[in-house]
Amino acid sequence: MPSLTDLSTVRDILSRHGFSFSKALGQNFLINPSVCPRMAAACHPEYEGEFAVLEIGPGIGVLTKELAQVATRVIAVELDTRLLPILEETLAEYPNVTVINGDAMKLDLAAVLQEHAAGLPVFVCANLPYYITSPLLMRLLESRLPIQAVTVLVQKEAAVRLCAKPATRDCGAVTFAVRYFAEPEILFSVSKGSFIPAPKVDSSVIRLRLREQPPCPIADEALFFRLVHAAFGQRRKTLLNSLTTAGYEKAQLAQALQTVGLSPTARAEELSIEQFAALADALS
Ligand code: SAM
Repeated sequence: MPSLTDLSTVRDILSRHGFSFSKALGQNFLINPSVCPRMAAACHPEYEGEFAVLEIGPGIGVLTKELAQVATRVIAVELDTRLLPILEETLAEYPNVTVINGDAMKLDLAAVLQEHAAGLPVFVCANLPYYITSPLLMRLLESRLPIQAVTVLVQKEAAVRLCAKPATRDCGAVTFAVRYFAEPEILFSVSKGSFIPAPKVDSSVIRLRLREQPPCPIADEALFFRLVHAAFGQRRKTLLNSLTTAGYEKAQLAQALQTVGLSPTARAEELSIEQFAALADALS
């Protein structure tokens, strides 16, 4: 099978199958030959034993083929049924790949991994459809599946936010959620010309290595995440105002801020994860 980064090969496959790109499904396929091998090499950091890779959105299988060469098993979840016959053709040489037709936001991933990767450590690797980047990452991080690391290609702006340090201007609610479950890093940039069709913006590959323990103990995780979301929902306001708007009682909030040593004029983007945790504890 010729290379899936060769433009005329890709055009030929797509036209033989009468395939047209769906913007709504975030279909921008990789055609830069250096990106997929780099992602496949990076997705299992410091791990050389047997392992499985979960890929979300294999498209025509350009990354899947690289993953199949480094992993014991690859489970690729694709929503678009039009791509299934194409994947059957492009992945015919890789018996260790299982393609599952389904929505990665709805599938019972625990059952999928139990059936196809039981006993193996799991690494996630994907060029994510941009419209579900944050919710899908949160689903994977919160799921408490046996996932060791998540290496994904996302739009550059999302990469910056997902990997931002708390208490910096780049951070948002998702920054705290990511940091709570994982240690994030930006690995390398990918220009918009690396895709067909080319998106409007550049992308980056990021890697989230899941923590065994959260960075600080939090008594009520749900309250912590509600607080972070409410605070960043109106990030320009002081915490006292944004959290009051979100339904917390002003006097109780002022007391909680004082208890944890925060100024009543503090804003969400000034807080560390430990300070949010302390505030959640003081309010619980
Ligand atoms: N991996 C391929 C590549 O790099 O060329 C395709 C990546 S493309 C950015 C995203 C892929 O995710 C598409 O194949 C799209 O059909 C698929 N997709 C979109 N939404 C999905 C969902 N909810 N669940 C599973 N796959 C989805």
